[in-house]
Amino acid sequence: MINFFGLTLKELEDTIGGIGKERFRARQLFRWIYKKDICDFSKMEDIPKSLRTLFKDMFNMQPLIPKEVFYSKDGSVKFSFETRDKHIIESVLIPEKNRMTLCVSSQIGCRMACAFCMTGKMGFIRNLGTDEIIGQVMASREFLKKHDGFLITDDKRKRDAPEKEDENQHKKITNIVFMGMGEPMDNFENVIRALDILKDQHGLDFSKRRITISSVGLLAGLNLLKPNTAGIAISLNAPDDKKRTKIMPINRLYSIKDIIEFVKQYKVSPRERITFEYVMLKDFNDSLDDARALYELLKGVKCKINLIPFNESPFSEFKTPDKKTVDEFHRYLINRYMTVIVRESRGSDIHGACGQLGMSYLKNCIEKSHREGIK
Ligand code: SF4
Repeated sequence: MINFFGLTLKELEDTIGGIGKERFRARQLFRWIYKKDICDFSKMEDIPKSLRTLFKDMFNMQPLIPKEVFYSKDGSVKFSFETRDKHIIESVLIPEKNRMTLCVSSQIGCRMACAFCMTGKMGFIRNLGTDEIIGQVMASREFLKKHDGFLITDDKRKRDAPEKEDENQHKKITNIVFMGMGEPMDNFENVIRALDILKDQHGLDFSKRRITISSVGLLAGLNLLKPNTAGIAISLNAPDDKKRTKIMPINRLYSIKDIIEFVKQYKVSPRERITFEYVMLKDFNDSLDDARALYELLKGVKCKINLIPFNESPFSEFKTPDKKTVDEFHRYLINRYMTVIVRESRGSDIHGACGQLGMSYLKNCIEKSHREGIK
């Protein structure tokens, strides 16, 4: 059986055309499944019955099933999905006032080994298939539908006036960010095919402005991106090569200068900008000297900066910077007319925050080794 969620519209047309059926049936299937959210072939009335039976035998549309769901105090929800080969991947739904963002994973583990990141500590296991990336979107969409857009436990919902409209209630995912486990540009082909499905007007129909690819600056992939493919966020995290190499080994391959050159030449529409993410690590990259160096580095570059105070964890030697330090760093850049915001990591209590995905995996490994050690 072919996994439906792994096929772009063009591939589906070729598959259906390849068995001698009309290619336009592919568009019909895309519309039923992605637009109307109907995965039951028997309900697809504009497709002849015999063809529906054939498609039912041909395509598998099993979304990923959440193995565990974690609810954060701040309204975020983290899903752990078990893959066919029994690995765990994680996605996070993040409700905000006017949007519902889904943070998806692109790999199991990661080979970039950023020092502050839990996924990096897992090492690399494998790339996710396109079907597994789209599967995260479909499963999260299913979850929202089932819970009527409420991202709180059903018990809490029953307790606290279920009919009350919650400002964090959204029935639909509005934005997708590739900021979960893995480096999306290290799984280029599958991520690009997933983007194709996400953006297809007959399919999930996300505008490119509502999709963000977050990368460590893996230029081998970024340079292959067509202009305006999606929003790009580059995880910078240090104002100079010496510091950056200490926490991001990829910097040995692509220096900050190479990344800035990429950003300057990458075409985006006039109102858009590439974002630089800067995870602030206490006493490592959070001083006013660092802010000054960051300003000097980015002052002529059309960009936005997201400052993300690091969330401490038992598996990391890095600490959260003081609020005062973060504010001073922020103010230094604002006063110099940089576009910069402080973005609090969401879902930190459920290890859903930036750089924390994979923590449950590490915890399990440690518990397992303790158990085995005790035996
Ligand atoms: S921060 Fe991103 S690229 Fe770096 S190790 Fe973690 S998942 Fe990989």
